[in-house]
Amino acid sequence: MDTRHDQLYQQDVHDPYLRHWHARGDALCPECGVSYQAGAGRWSWEGLDDAEHAERALCPACRRIADKAPAGNLTLAGSFVKDHTDEICNLLHNTESLEKREHPLERLMTITDEPEGLVVTTTGIHLANRLGHALEAAFKGHVDYTYSDDRTALRVRWERN
Ligand SMILES: [Zn+2]
Repeated sequence: MDTRHDQLYQQDVHDPYLRHWHARGDALCPECGVSYQAGAGRWSWEGLDDAEHAERALCPACRRIADKAPAGNLTLAGSFVKDHTDEICNLLHNTESLEKREHPLERLMTITDEPEGLVVTTTGIHLANRLGHALEAAFKGHVDYTYSDDRTALRVRWERN
């Protein structure tokens, strides 16, 4: 096991959605089409050399969506949010597209209008982190990041008035 793989494994061991994949063979998600390349221990959109013999299994991202179990939770608060909802949603979707291309398990789950502001959920903490930085870069405001102790979940609060 090389160092990089080992590091990934160290992170994944805490995340119940990623934990067991290292022990499995090639897999293909019937929901979104992402594939797991067991030899490389990675997920990609590139497909498999031998897709026919790959296991059909929901990928961790689709499983989180099915379970309604986000890894990332963002609250976008403040009067600016109400007046610029379309621009903000565009930024969220564009940022997701960029992230998802390279990291297929990082996806937007839901964007909902709640009394405290827009609430956004993601399947991965990296996308949640990137969205926080994208909001700050595009619109300024103030942002806070709170990781869970095992770093499998992230809460982001962005506020601009
Ligand atoms: Zn999937």
